[in-house]
Amino acid sequence: MKITYATNNLIQLTRLVAFNCFLLREDDGFTLIDTNMGGQAQAIIQAADKLGLPIVRIVLTHAHVDHVGSLDALHEALPDVPVAISERDVRFLSGDKSLDPSEPHVPLRGGYPICKTQPTLLLHEGDHIGSLEVIATPGHTTGHRAFLDTRDRSIIAGDAYQTQGGVAVSGTIELLFPLPALATWHKGLALESARKLLALGPSVLAVGHGRVLSNPQAEMEHAIRVMEQSLAKEERKQPHVA
Ligand SMILES: [Zn+2]
Repeated sequence: MKITYATNNLIQLTRLVAFNCFLLREDDGFTLIDTNMGGQAQAIIQAADKLGLPIVRIVLTHAHVDHVGSLDALHEALPDVPVAISERDVRFLSGDKSLDPSEPHVPLRGGYPICKTQPTLLLHEGDHIGSLEVIATPGHTTGHRAFLDTRDRSIIAGDAYQTQGGVAVSGTIELLFPLPALATWHKGLALESARKLLALGPSVLAVGHGRVLSNPQAEMEHAIRVMEQSLAKEERKQPHVA
């Protein structure tokens, strides 16, 4: 895996150019954020070894296959390391793909593999885990979470944004890398979540797909405007119901 320093504390691990997970340096070791696609457990553990700290917790932005693919193998190798995911996306790991009555009934998209690992921590808006504050960012998935590093206001946004193929809000199709858009559940909620992350005043934006952005606010604003325009266009196209 390719190792790139995003900040002093945040290290990006990249597989096949566009698939990221992150090691975040904490006082007690690394927090691993997402687990990449399948087959990457040893490479992730080796990267942490090389960087000189153990992985002490695993947190997941969401339950898509390219973020939880190596979860079971990592959990097998590191059985004492706690695993955290949102209280909503945890259901996908056991194969429950039902929507709640309060959720918009549009189809789920993307691959949600069943995992043997049972997370030990469920992440709610505003929770703190190490230096990270949990930010609820539904849209890409129902229970998507982003994480704000309260030490330096860097944000690990999962798939709420992408930078591969262009900086975009999840749901905007970037022709050079359409995967996150094609896997997005609800574009309207994804747009609200993108605005929420911008309002936090991030110093750095790290994403599941693509390079890390420093001082990302102008690029995030632009991506939000593009999404707003595209949603407005879609609304105009919809036939009026009498
Ligand atoms: Zn995803």
